[in-house]
Amino acid sequence: MDINNLIEKSHNIAISKGWWDKEREIPELIALIHSELSEALEEYRTGENLDIRYENNKPEGFVVELADVLIRIFDLSGKYKIDLKKALETKLKYNETREYRHGNKKA
Ligand SMILES: [Mg+2]
Repeated sequence: MDINNLIEKSHNIAISKGWWDKEREIPELIALIHSELSEALEEYRTGENLDIRYENNKPEGFVVELADVLIRIFDLSGKYKIDLKKALETKLKYNETREYRHGNKKA
C-alpha cells in the first residue's frame, strides 16, 4: 500500500473511532507518538522477541508498537495535510549525500 493510502486510511479510521470529535493540536499528537515509542521500549524490555503476538485476538508486541508510531504519524499527516511522502523522499535523497557518520558523530 502506498504511503498516501496508509495516511488516508489511518486518518479515516481515527475519525471513525472518535479521535477527532474535538480538535487536537500537534503537541498533543507528538506526545502520543512518544507514548507509542515508550510502549515499544517496554515491549523490548519484557518481550520474548520482536514479533507480533496475540492477546485475546489483539495484536501486541514490539513491532506492533512501532506500527502504532507510524499510524499516529500518518493520522497527524492526514489531519494537517502534511506531504509526508515528499518529505521522506526528500530527506532520504539528502541522507544519501551525507558524509559517513555525518562528520563522525557518536550516535
Ligand atoms: Mg500502542
